Amino acid sequence: AASSTRTHIALVSVPAFSHQVSILEFAKRLLHLHNDDTFHVTCIIPTLSSLSTPSKPFFHTLPPNIHCIFLPSVHFDDLKSNGVSLEIQLQLSVSRAMPSVRDTLRSLLGSANVVALIADAMVPEALEFGKELNILSYIYFPCSTMLLSLCLHSPTLHEEVSCEYRDHPHLIQIPGCISIYGKDLPNSVQDRSSLDYKLFLKRCQRYRGVHDGILVNSFVEMEEEATKAITQNGISNGDDVGDAHSNYPPIFQIGPIIQTGPSDPKIGCECLLWLDKQPRNSVLYVSFGSGGTLSQEQINELALGLELSKHKFLWVNLRAPNDKASATYFVGDGLVDDPLSFLPLGFLERTKGQGLVISGWAPQVEVLGHESVGGFLTHCGWNSVLESVVHGVPMMAWPLFAEQRTNAALVTDGLKVAVRPKGDTSGKSVVVKEEVAELVKRLMEGLEGGEIRRRMKDLQKFAACAVMEDGSSTRTLSKLAQKWKSLGRFYQKNIEC
Ligand code: UDP
Repeated sequence: AASSTRTHIALVSVPAFSHQVSILEFAKRLLHLHNDDTFHVTCIIPTLSSLSTPSKPFFHTLPPNIHCIFLPSVHFDDLKSNGVSLEIQLQLSVSRAMPSVRDTLRSLLGSANVVALIADAMVPEALEFGKELNILSYIYFPCSTMLLSLCLHSPTLHEEVSCEYRDHPHLIQIPGCISIYGKDLPNSVQDRSSLDYKLFLKRCQRYRGVHDGILVNSFVEMEEEATKAITQNGISNGDDVGDAHSNYPPIFQIGPIIQTGPSDPKIGCECLLWLDKQPRNSVLYVSFGSGGTLSQEQINELALGLELSKHKFLWVNLRAPNDKASATYFVGDGLVDDPLSFLPLGFLERTKGQGLVISGWAPQVEVLGHESVGGFLTHCGWNSVLESVVHGVPMMAWPLFAEQRTNAALVTDGLKVAVRPKGDTSGKSVVVKEEVAELVKRLMEGLEGGEIRRRMKDLQKFAACAVMEDGSSTRTLSKLAQKWKSLGRFYQKNIEC
């Protein structure tokens, strides 16, 4: 079929690699369900700078019926130099790109059979264009159902709690979820007088108003109660269940969606070669995602703690120290210092047989799937969490910024598939080497480690079932696809008439 006659889905993403990967992997899954060439996807991507090296192979290997339009970069130097948070930088820079998103969508609609618009959770304002253009509009939520439950509940929470959440004398109740400390809520809500918080609340209000639904990168079996809590408040049920602002939008659990496809064989191949030589389940994989950084003191303590644990480790993406945990999130690979020079004196020589440290990008999904890997020290970015679940690898939660502490609470206290340091890991204090070593041992050996591993293996099975042909997430996505496909035919017929 010519591309103009296929059913077309428009996506709007944001300038953050992990968000782009997630929404585009969703697109790949949609196409895979219908390998009869039914769908064509166009992803509109606001940009801040040129593509980082690690992300290039991902974009270059997309299937032919996924097309990306990179918008000209918006200026955001004023935001960077004002020292505003990562979330504000991201939010305001994409807002600046909205006129160009609108123009691109309009011209796409002129030439293609577009039936639905799906915007990343950071750009719910893009859905205004869906309304304007009279097409179905959805949010793609690349985070946990727990976070979505918090977002939908937050206008109520805002009214109920008058102090800063971290000073609240009780645990914070999120519908359908474990109760958590206020300090484990996302960064955006930590200072209620900030612009960050204001923008967060605004986004949450917009989620409530989404008409056609929110697609969540999670699966019912992992977050059953949270899913129930949201759907019980949904439009279809009608009744008010405990929340003054009920009538939530429909949600569609379609995950776990993780990075697939061939990674560049040149990137991080030394990690895989090194893993090939290690015993089964023996290695702790250490990574802080696409941009997390540690302070100099924390790098020292982590390194010495790994050494002290005597367990094997593979530490990738080591970056030069920075006291701000998200300092390099938008910088990508443009760093000048040699990060290995910031490790403690003699560390690399002393740990030669025990560990491997690289400053570059690793093929994370392949690493987690390698049989030598027995644990993952992770910053708890949602993609990393799902990749760990899909491969059944128990975690040590080391959250740094954004909603990572909330994810850490979910995997540690909720799902019990992770251990976590007692104190703060996001840079306000330092986790000392003795605690690091003790946690590594708790995770990699002994009774507790065994229990965690068993629970993770169960979760892994549920994750695999959810995306099987008749799995919960596959059925949900198939129904959506069916709806979009029939609308596509309908529009096409009308054009032909
Ligand atoms: N990633 C990778 N190699 C690395 C570091 C990260 O492939 O060396 C990938 C990882 O597999 C995940 C994404 O980058 O898909 C990071 O996303 P996440 O949500 O975990 O964290 P963020 O980067 O948004 O902080």
